[in-house]
Amino acid sequence: MAKLFCPKCGSDADVFYDNVCKQCFIGNKTLFECPHVVYGRICPSCDSVFRKGRWQSGGKEEDIVISLVKENLEINGDAQRVELALTPKQLDYSRYRIHVEAKAEIKGAPIDAALDTELRISWETCDTCSRISGGYFVGIVQIRADKRLPTHDELTRCMSLAEEVAERSRGKGDRLAFIAKTEEIEGGVDMYVGSIKLGKQICRAVMDTFGGKFAESPKLVGQKNGVDLYRITYALRLPEFVRGDIISVDGAVVEVQSCAKHVSGIDLETGKRFLENFNNLMDVKKLTRREDAVSAVLVADEGKTIQVLDPLTYETITVKRPEFLSVEPGNEIQIVKTEKGIFVLP
Ligand SMILES: [Zn+2]
Ligand SMILES: [Zn+2]
Repeated sequence: MAKLFCPKCGSDADVFYDNVCKQCFIGNKTLFECPHVVYGRICPSCDSVFRKGRWQSGGKEEDIVISLVKENLEINGDAQRVELALTPKQLDYSRYRIHVEAKAEIKGAPIDAALDTELRISWETCDTCSRISGGYFVGIVQIRADKRLPTHDELTRCMSLAEEVAERSRGKGDRLAFIAKTEEIEGGVDMYVGSIKLGKQICRAVMDTFGGKFAESPKLVGQKNGVDLYRITYALRLPEFVRGDIISVDGAVVEVQSCAKHVSGIDLETGKRFLENFNNLMDVKKLTRREDAVSAVLVADEGKTIQVLDPLTYETITVKRPEFLSVEPGNEIQIVKTEKGIFVLP
């Protein structure tokens, strides 16, 4: 077999790229270029990063640094199978040295290159953080309860639901989905929100958990550049009744399991399931709560009725036997005393 040599440099070769040896082919090619210094803007409060003309959520500082340098690399358009390795080293609070190594192929010829660049961070407060610190908000979510005071647990849960919703929305890119201020007040909590969408989302999340209803009302607060500025109040009412309440409804006595648009529970007289649209109920009243139940001895089971020993008076009382009763006489059952009589709890 005849010996082959490169027509350009004359050296022996057995593989050719564009009719020259690998060294001659690769010799005049640049795999990638990068400025000596790359500049980045990062918010010190929330790690947002300014890119493509706007602030975006960032992440870990080192990851931001790597991505900012990557965005500034100019890779040879003919390169294929490009593999990049960026190694950042922090020099001081605002400077990184980044070693960039790249491997690729150009027309099948392997090529690699390396260089160092410096990233300089300019720490700037982002649009969202400056709004938060400036007290900016567009709406107030007012959480109250209907005809009662909300419980501490309900309010705590509502606030953490709101934070979860806000965080999820920020993760999806809604940078104004922040809660600027939370105020616990007598009878409820007020949350000042940075976006109108967030106000609605909080109300929906709370209602998914607790039921209830909300109404929104805009209020004109001024003008900016000739455009009316509104703030929206979301008045959310947690339902009047909560799980464990024992209520009288249209003649029946019901232990509430949930109360939102519908009231569902157990009819304590029949033991049957109760489900009604709240707005259709005519005569609703809270009698007591499951927590106020007392233990009483079941004296006798007579099929349609039972006899219970009143733990306070030691008198035997006759009560209609609920379907769910499975306790043998002689054992204790839970009863509630109400103005509508005595009822056995399931
Ligand atoms: Zn050559
Ligand atoms: Zn920020």
